[in-house]
Amino acid sequence: DTVDAAVPAPTPSPAPAVPAVVGADLPVPLVTGGRIGYANLDHAASAPCLAAARAAVDEFLPWYASVHRGAGFASRVSTAAHTEARDAVHRFVGARRGDTVVFTRNTTDALNLLARAVPRHTAVVLFDTDHHAALLPWRGPHVHRVPTPTDPLAAVAAADAALAACPTGPRLLVVTGASNVTGELFPVAALAAVARRHGARVALDAAQLAPHRPVSLRELDVDYVALSGHKLYAPFGAGALVGRADWLRAAPPYLVGGGASALVERRGDGLGVAWHAGPERHEAGSPNTVGVHALGVACAELAAHWPAVIAHERRLLDRLRRGLAAVPGLTQLSLFEGSQVDRVGTVSFVLDGVDPGWLAAVLSAEYGIGVRDGAFCAHVATRRLVARAGQPAGPAVRASLGLGTTAEHVDRLVRALRRVVARGA
Ligand code: PLP
Repeated sequence: DTVDAAVPAPTPSPAPAVPAVVGADLPVPLVTGGRIGYANLDHAASAPCLAAARAAVDEFLPWYASVHRGAGFASRVSTAAHTEARDAVHRFVGARRGDTVVFTRNTTDALNLLARAVPRHTAVVLFDTDHHAALLPWRGPHVHRVPTPTDPLAAVAAADAALAACPTGPRLLVVTGASNVTGELFPVAALAAVARRHGARVALDAAQLAPHRPVSLRELDVDYVALSGHKLYAPFGAGALVGRADWLRAAPPYLVGGGASALVERRGDGLGVAWHAGPERHEAGSPNTVGVHALGVACAELAAHWPAVIAHERRLLDRLRRGLAAVPGLTQLSLFEGSQVDRVGTVSFVLDGVDPGWLAAVLSAEYGIGVRDGAFCAHVATRRLVARAGQPAGPAVRASLGLGTTAEHVDRLVRALRRVVARGA
């Protein structure tokens, strides 16, 4: 008895802390007068900066100097930071030995670089619901934009059929990790396995996946991954293309200029140029070292907190989806309707008879809630899903959560939508 009495009652363990972001709950003005803490439900567009990334930038700024070009101490510090950032991104995406990390401005830039680097006559297969950054850069007669089926198994079968119909020669399957419209995850590993059977390489657009789930090139058996720092809780301006070095090494430089060129000399009346073979080949010009440093720090910070990050977002997404399901006249959009697929915290919806642009403006002005309205640079997907929901095939509203989101933000959105419905739009 005495022993039992000495055992303390189990206390529920607090949820593990997620990394802090800058500017969460910043007071914003309301149209009614007064201010309210900002409910940023637009993480899918650009995530707030991690406190750790901001601290890293602050610490780094005094050492801001030219990279790979100066012999001074500050230049050496900057060059080391740049190299460490490359290593951090390499680790973050589970890259293989020999995979290269090319720093870009963002995912759009990374996928355009890849599209320029694939061998001529590469057959490209992708889904038509992709973000425009993945949908548009490919050229040539063998680009197959497969209509996205309504369930993930059928998507794998559709990719299989499209790859089987490709002419012989290099092939590339482009896959979106998580939809920026619905947050639904694509079956990346299964799609990669199918691609392998057809001798195709796989490029993963991880702009929406990488901020919310670990991504491993090795484990997924994917050849390339593209991501954006500003969606990964780092400031704007830095992104990356990571993957197999051979096509990138063989391709003409994406930009030409200093940094990309190893040797330039007069040859007769012209110039002979030898381009670097490493990632610098595609990174001409002075690099964004502050940006890539912050990106590397954000990658390390996320990687150190995955269980907490995923649990935090799952809890809030569940709350959001249940709340939205109870709003009369509201339809949440789904690519894989009827299938239980994993999702990141992004939900697009339409409200019967309510203009999405007007609704987003009301949420901002009256409730201090930031959402996005429109077709989210995925026009084919959004128009199709909105039409499926029985609305005029146009825009929708998107709420997307992340590390800066609290339960109060989610509840405020749901309450605001119920009020809009109750007063009649
Ligand atoms: N791919 C997806 C799935 C996205 O959601 C986005 C941006 O929203 C992009 C690519 C393009 O990213 P960025 O604008 O940073 O180039």
